Order: sequence, then C-alpha cells, then structure tokens
Amino acid sequence: MSEETSVMIGLETHIQLNTETKLFCSCPNKDAEEPNSNVCPICLGHPGTRPKLNKNVLEQAVKTSLALNCNINEEIFFSRKTYFYPDMSKNYQITQYELPVGEKGEIKIKTEGKEKKIGITRLHIEEDPAKTEHVGGNIEKSEYTRIDYNRAGTPLLEIVTEPEFETPKEARTYLQQLAQIFEYLGIYKPESNYAIKSDANISINGGEKVEVKNITGTSEVEKALSYEISRQKQMKRRGKEIKQHTRNYNADMASTKKMRDKETEEDYGYIFDPDLTTQKLNKQYQEKINSNIPELPHEKFERFKKEYGLKDKLVESLITEPEMAGDFEKLAKEHKSETIASWMTGELKKTLNYNEVEYSESEIETEWLSTLFNLLEKDNISDRNAEKVLRQMVEQPRSTEEIVEQEDLLKAEEDEVDSIVQEVIDENPGALEDYNSGDEGAINFLVGQVMQESQGKADPKTARNKIIAKIED
Ligand SMILES: [Zn+2]
Repeated sequence: MSEETSVMIGLETHIQLNTETKLFCSCPNKDAEEPNSNVCPICLGHPGTRPKLNKNVLEQAVKTSLALNCNINEEIFFSRKTYFYPDMSKNYQITQYELPVGEKGEIKIKTEGKEKKIGITRLHIEEDPAKTEHVGGNIEKSEYTRIDYNRAGTPLLEIVTEPEFETPKEARTYLQQLAQIFEYLGIYKPESNYAIKSDANISINGGEKVEVKNITGTSEVEKALSYEISRQKQMKRRGKEIKQHTRNYNADMASTKKMRDKETEEDYGYIFDPDLTTQKLNKQYQEKINSNIPELPHEKFERFKKEYGLKDKLVESLITEPEMAGDFEKLAKEHKSETIASWMTGELKKTLNYNEVEYSESEIETEWLSTLFNLLEKDNISDRNAEKVLRQMVEQPRSTEEIVEQEDLLKAEEDEVDSIVQEVIDENPGALEDYNSGDEGAINFLVGQVMQESQGKADPKTARNKIIAKIED
C-alpha cells in the first residue's frame, strides 16, 4: 500500500472585534470582573427586544473583506441560525448565511519560500454566544454549568477558506498572515485578550470531512491538524472507514475527541431575521472604506525590498511589528538601512522578547535609536556596549546620552588604552613568558584582561595590536 497521502484542509476562523460596544446593543464590549454585568435585555435575548447593528462592525467587516480581495455584496441581511444550547438564550444566533459581507477573495501565503494562493470563500458577521463554564472541568464530569453573558453579543468576523491547505504548516502560516493583516487594519492586537479561534475541516485521500472545533490561536492549529491527520491515517491503515463527524480539540492533551455526528448547514434552519434591516453597501460606501485601508503587510514587504534593498529575512522581521517598521523608515533617512534593520530585528527584538514587551508598548524613542546609530557609525561605541544600551533602553527606559554617560560606555581614548595595555603586561609576566615561548593563545588572555580593565570600552582588535607591538618592542 502506498504511504502517499493527500490532505485537504479548510479553515473557518473567528476573530473577536475590539469595538467599544457589542454587536447589537450598547453594552460595553469588554471583560468585566463580575459575570453577567455587561448585559442588557438585548444581549440576554429577552423576547420583545430589538437588536440594532453596530455600524462600526459593518465597516470593519467591509475593510477586512477588501483587504482579503473579496467581492462585496451590495445588499446584505442577517439570518437566525437556530440551535438549542444554554449559551444562546434566544435559541438562535444572529449571523449571515445567504449573503455574507464578502465572497470569493484570496490571500497569498508563503511557506518555506514558496508562494501559494488560498481562496477565501466568504467573510461574514455574527454574534459570539455566552461563555459556559462546566464546573469541575468537563461537561461529562461536571454537576452543573455556569453561564456568563458578558461575552454574548461580542462581534465576530468569520472567515472561511476553500479546502486548499495541504499541510498543517500551511494552515498555520495562513493564520499568522491573517493575524498580521488584522493588526495592520487596526482590528486586532496580538497582546490583547481578543481571541482568534478556528474550526478546521480535514479529509485525507478524498475521503469524508472531519471537523475539528475550537482551536485557539495560530500555533495550536498546526498541532491539532497534525494529530488529526495521523489519527485518520491510522484508521485507514486498520481498514476503518472515516465518517463525517465533529471533534473537539483539547489543547492540553494536543488531541481531538469525537463530539457529535456532523450536522449539515440545513439542520440549523436558517431564516431571515426581520428585526434587522437590510444593509446597503453601495460602491460609494466601499470606495470610502477602501481609501482608508493602510498599506498591508505584503505591500510593505515588496516596497521595503525595493526601496531599501534588504534581505527577505530582515524585511519579514521588520514588518511583523508595524511600529518598528515605521520607525525604521524614519531612521533610514539618516542611517544605513541595512545596519539599522539588523540592529532593530536582531539585538533590539531579542531584548524585547526576553522582557516580553512589544515594540509598540516600549517607551523607546526614535531619537534614542538615532543617537545610538550615530555613535556606532562614528565608531565611538563597541558593539557589545551598544547591546548594553539597547537592553537599558528596554529595561530602564532613558535616552542614549543618559545611558552612555551613567554607565560609562563610550570607547576609551587612545592613551587610556595604552596605559591599560602597559599595566596588563606589567602585571602578567607569566603570560608574557608563555607568549615568548611560542604560546600564541597567551595573547587572548591579555586581550581579555585589557577588555576587563577598560570595562569593555577598548576595541579588542586595537588592544591585540597594541599588546603585540608592546611585547615585540
Ligand atoms: Zn447588551
């Protein structure tokens, strides 16, 4: 039997929008300390209440659809998706079915240097249900379930792809790029609590689809899919048939578990929601929104490569943080672009990651970086001490001038190095003897001593040359 397996994966991704108010009422759209405190009769689904569409959500949905190259439907409406579960007290969820905001889009993903187009089937708006908490862990073991309606009515965008991913890695790359586009559009912040969740459809060798639900974030998707693909392969090897069904993903166990036989979309009995009026998204409205879409990550990538002639890796790293990319452009007017890109994506990012700070949250000012790059260009500071300056900027934010002065980090003057070299030679006659009897390595020891004495301010190469000159004098 051939081990060659063809895999087809499609993703349905939900992103919670960070709007001031909920989708259909004026309750604050945010976490609250007390459960069931950011609620009103509308988001609690009381009979007789009328939902009213948050226009800001509509705008964000159109903006995102356009960024994903979707066609916009000029007239849209909302539908009721009927199901019975305590997280939705109306017994239906308001969503879009027949006519979503956007359809037939595409996104180009890049995995291991290879570019591939993934079709976006649709993008629509829907409301998040309430949060259920099964006391005692999971639904089988728990004696009762608590419900928090603070989340009910949080606006969601759902983005559905064509089943065109062939590997878990491709799916992960797509989600990372999608999250980056959301960030550029200003509808998402990586450090916030607003979640990106996906359901995945997987079929192997053209067999039936298995749906894996509730995969949170961008990296979990790769694990969940890898698990599910090997599970299905094992089944096939044992001659078992794979039937269409739905499984739940357990992130702690990195495994999937059967929930129910998959219902079809028809089972939900979608009906038009008469409480909400039809929305017109005419060309003029679309144009207005389109003109406010900022430069997107892939556009910035191409422009940076062309304008600054940087390597792919450096550009990719810069554009993952839009604010860093913006500051890079300011700095590139006065400094060598490759040098600053290397410092920003290298030592600076490393320090930020170590301290778990995003560049946009740090207090670093562009001028501080500019001063540091000036010192480096004039060779007034060693690379090692420049790294120290960056660490200080992140950990105890203050200007480069203050840091180099307080920490005494500028390169030593010529005569200062001369006198340290003399001192080190005088104090280490043993090393001198070793060198004279042919041990070249003894020099390294002496250079190390000079570096230590000068507190890193001496340049190691200069120190080495000075030592050799003195010894052979
Ligand atoms: Zn409400």
